[in-house]
Amino acid sequence: MKQKETMLNTLLKDKKVLPMNLNTDEVGEDHASANIETPLKKDAFDLSDTEKIKKIEFHFAEIMDTLGMDLKDDSLKGTPNRVAKMYVQEIFSGLKPDNKPKITLFENKYQYNQMLVEKDISFYSNCEHHFVPIFGKAHVAYISNGTVIGLSKLNRVVQYYAKRPQVQERLTIQIAKELQKVLKTNDVAIIIDAKHLCVSSRGVQDGDAATVTSFYGGKFENEITKQEFLKYIEMKTQY
Ligand SMILES: [Zn+2]
Repeated sequence: MKQKETMLNTLLKDKKVLPMNLNTDEVGEDHASANIETPLKKDAFDLSDTEKIKKIEFHFAEIMDTLGMDLKDDSLKGTPNRVAKMYVQEIFSGLKPDNKPKITLFENKYQYNQMLVEKDISFYSNCEHHFVPIFGKAHVAYISNGTVIGLSKLNRVVQYYAKRPQVQERLTIQIAKELQKVLKTNDVAIIIDAKHLCVSSRGVQDGDAATVTSFYGGKFENEITKQEFLKYIEMKTQY
């Protein structure tokens, strides 16, 4: 891959960073993706959200029916509609460009030109191969190029790309590229440390495996800068 991404595991093996919970990687061969863009059809947004909900509701009812579930049961009858609404309005809402967070930038008046790290951003996503949750923490950093971004916007960019059927490698790169674009700098770094329920709860059923992906752009390719970023992430803060 051309992207400036490295598995943190190589660093872990070299003992360059503290391991803690970052001890295993699980990027199975069935979890690879070649494309940075989420694969979408040309007519992906021809249907309105309401039409999508209706259609998914119908098909999800078919799935449940095929599994043999009694949709007349009080507890089950609302499920197809609930699932459809959840898909379109919540957990896959990041597929829709209209839902992309509007980013406002501020002038870097205080001339803060060190790296800014926003760590432990919790996110929930879903694996596009099994449609079960991926969840974990994202750590994001950038070095200002004259403009600064509202801190909550870093969080919102992570959430937007997480709310899609995803693979973790693509999620990492999509967040990084978006931040590079809005902040007009290559100096962006991301680490994502996540659990994949398709690995923990089915298949190999490894409940301890965690997947770590990273992206180091611009100045973060410099070993000293990268180590500084990693040190901030390890830092245990008491509040
Ligand atoms: Zn999966």
